[in-house]
Amino acid sequence: MPTIAQALKEASQQIDRFEAKLLLAAALGKDRTYLIAHDRDALQDDVLALYRQFIERRLRGEPVPYILGKQEFFGRSFHVCSAVLIPRPDTETLIETVLQYCREHDVRTLLDLGTGSGCIAITLALELPQLQVFASDNSQEALAVARENAQELGARVRFYESDWFSALHELTLFDAIVSNPPYIRRDDEHLLQLGYEPIQALTDGNDGLDDIRQIIKQAPRHLNRGGLLAFEHGWDQARAVRDLFSDPIWDTPRTVKDLAGNDRVTFARRHA
Ligand code: GLN
Repeated sequence: MPTIAQALKEASQQIDRFEAKLLLAAALGKDRTYLIAHDRDALQDDVLALYRQFIERRLRGEPVPYILGKQEFFGRSFHVCSAVLIPRPDTETLIETVLQYCREHDVRTLLDLGTGSGCIAITLALELPQLQVFASDNSQEALAVARENAQELGARVRFYESDWFSALHELTLFDAIVSNPPYIRRDDEHLLQLGYEPIQALTDGNDGLDDIRQIIKQAPRHLNRGGLLAFEHGWDQARAVRDLFSDPIWDTPRTVKDLAGNDRVTFARRHA
């Protein structure tokens, strides 16, 4: 039986060494520090078999978070499966933007549209305990994952099955509405590399702006005066998204860059 060190060496000829460590730690049911302290331990048959299965899946192209069933976001671990988009570091820019806005304005209720794993709604609910958080998704499978995450992380979020605003009563109004909608253009090459993730969470099958367009159009019916509407979007969509806020009910929209320096979040306030 190979030792931990040998198993890692063998795998790192095929996959990224850091990923190999994550997969081996998961097969062992331990954390990564365990690997260092026990690098001369021989692996049990069942652990080795599971580790090799994980490597096979990785070699076929499956993202590591789906193999592990979890992904870290804003310092917390979220369950993920192929029904939900894998939380990205880019989305932390949306969180930071909304957190700052909520510190400066009186925001009591917030809706996250297309919540997926729930990472946005749950993070905001945990970071801002006074905030009442609501979240919707049109996928029942995604909602099951989001509910499980909310429960495990101890976040109070009310979930709705809804295609954007469709299932919300017309009198339901929020102080803030946020969304990371599908925004990749149908013909974007990047889409091909994301084959394991739910396609309906990534693209509208058109120019990547259909959902943002629809949400901006419908949002006034569900947003209090002075309320915030904030989106995550593609690196090259900031201008187009700002232009979509052309109705005079909106204040001048603003764009925020992500840590990589790309335009990532655009938001506007509804006039008070
Ligand atoms: N940020 C994701 C990516 O480009 C896309 C997420 C989305 O469409 N909402 O990989």
